[in-house]
Amino acid sequence: MPNTHQNTCLRCGACCLEGGPALHSQDLEILRSGRIPLNHLVTIRKGELVHNPKSGRVQAVCNELIKIGGKGGDWRCRYFEEQGKGCGIYQHRPQACAVLKCWDTGEILQLVEQDLLSRLDILADDHPLRSVIIEHERICPCPDLEGMAGSLADLDSDARAEIETLVRRDLHFRTKVVKEHGLGLAEELFFFGRPLFQLLQQLGVRISETPSGLSLHWPR
Ligand code: SF4
Ligand code: SF4
Repeated sequence: MPNTHQNTCLRCGACCLEGGPALHSQDLEILRSGRIPLNHLVTIRKGELVHNPKSGRVQAVCNELIKIGGKGGDWRCRYFEEQGKGCGIYQHRPQACAVLKCWDTGEILQLVEQDLLSRLDILADDHPLRSVIIEHERICPCPDLEGMAGSLADLDSDARAEIETLVRRDLHFRTKVVKEHGLGLAEELFFFGRPLFQLLQQLGVRISETPSGLSLHWPR
């Protein structure tokens, strides 16, 4: 509930602790300048689940978006400085942070889903991984996880087998590209987003490793 007496930022950091911002076309200059490097970003692919501040619900995204990544295994923004409760890139903070007023959310809500940057918007035309990203999206698209979450227990064996194939193909593709291009984990999260098996874990699918590869255990 908005605080009706508040009219300025109290620098409490609560918004930064909820997660880094999505990036918009206004942020392209900052990215191109290298002030926010690619290995500080995470790609949320089309079909993945995020909290939509407009609807107040967790929903599948219709278009990919790029967020500033978290730290310490959670989503709190990696640029949030705990001690001073400040932003480590304040002068160059993304547009979504610049317009965020928790006491008056009109401007930030207008920005939601507007002019979102994608990986291909950010990468130079001659970047060697552009075609690899396109190929990954072609053969390993992220399924509509919102639709899947609602019908997980009802998936028939063919549908489950199809998803299991997709999980293995996604992992195989990543392993190969990471090796060929010498990518670290943080770079992988920008170039290819999170692996499908991790996204399924969020839905309650258990994953175990077997000698023949990953095995999925579906919730009943
Ligand atoms: S915008 Fe609001 S939540 Fe964010 S730091 Fe300022 S007072 Fe805290
Ligand atoms: S970039 Fe700065 S202002 Fe924006 S969420 Fe991160 S720490 Fe907060």
